Amino acid sequence: MAYPGRWRESTAGVPADLQTGHASRTPVFRRVLGAGRNAVARVIECIPSACPLCHGAASGGALCAGCHDDVVASMQSLAGRCSVCRLALDKQAGCPDCACRPPAFDQVVAAFDYALPGDFLIRQFKAGRRFSHARFLAAMLARAVMEDGPQLPQDTILVPVPSSHASIMQRGFNPAAEIARYLAPRLSLPCRPGLLVRNHEGGRQTHLPRAQRMRQASGLYTCTASVGGATVAVVDDVLTTGSTLHGISLQLKAAGAVAVWGLVLARTPYR
Ligand SMILES: [Zn+2]
Ligand SMILES: [Zn+2]
Repeated sequence: MAYPGRWRESTAGVPADLQTGHASRTPVFRRVLGAGRNAVARVIECIPSACPLCHGAASGGALCAGCHDDVVASMQSLAGRCSVCRLALDKQAGCPDCACRPPAFDQVVAAFDYALPGDFLIRQFKAGRRFSHARFLAAMLARAVMEDGPQLPQDTILVPVPSSHASIMQRGFNPAAEIARYLAPRLSLPCRPGLLVRNHEGGRQTHLPRAQRMRQASGLYTCTASVGGATVAVVDDVLTTGSTLHGISLQLKAAGAVAVWGLVLARTPYR
C-alpha cells in the first residue's frame, strides 16, 4: 500500500512546485478546495467510533469529549509558559531551552503537552502506526492555532519536517506529513512537503541527552526553494528541545522567510 506520507518522502529532491502543485493554486482555489475537504471531514466526523483512549462512545475516530478535555487541559492556560517555545516553566526563572541557544524560530503553537494522556496518543500514532489518528490530531492542532494568540498571516506556507528514510521504512508514513496534510485545508493554507529535504539520516534523537539533541539537528535539513517574504509554519508531531525547529528555521530564514512558526501536536515538559 502506498501511504501518502511515504509517497511524499520518495519525491524528495524534486522541485517543490512539481511535488505538490500547490504553489500554482490561487488563494481562492485553495479556499474552495479546502471547503470541499472540510465538508467531507464533517461527514466523517459524524460516523460513530470508539474513543482511542477510553474506548467509550465517540465519532469519526476522534477522542470523546471528556478525553479531549483531559488531553488539552494543561495547555488551556498559557500563563507560566515560555512565550516563544511554549515550554511549561513551572518554578524556573526563565526558559532553559531558549536560554541555551536563542531560537531562530519566532513562535510555537502546541495542542497539548507530551505527558499523560496526550503522550499515549502520540505513541499510538507513531509507534502503533495508527496513521488514521492524523485527522483528529490535526483538528486539535488547528483549534490550538486558531485560539492561541496572534494569527498566522494569509501568505503562510505549511511544511512538514521530513522523516529519516529509516523511520519511514519502519512506520510506512511520515507523521509530520500526515498532520500537515490534514492541517492545511483546516487553516486554508498551502502545504509544500518538498520545501524541506533531509540531507542525511542522522541518528535517532529519542534517547540522547538534551545538550546533544541541541547540537545534532544543525545541518540536517535544506530548504529547496526561495520563500522570500513568506511566513513558514513548520509542522511536527513533538517538540522536545526545539533543536530540529531551530536548525530548520536557520535554513528557511536564509531562504528568505520573514518568520518561522512551529506547529506541533505536543510540547515535551522540561526533564
Ligand atoms: Zn474517551
Ligand atoms: Zn522557550
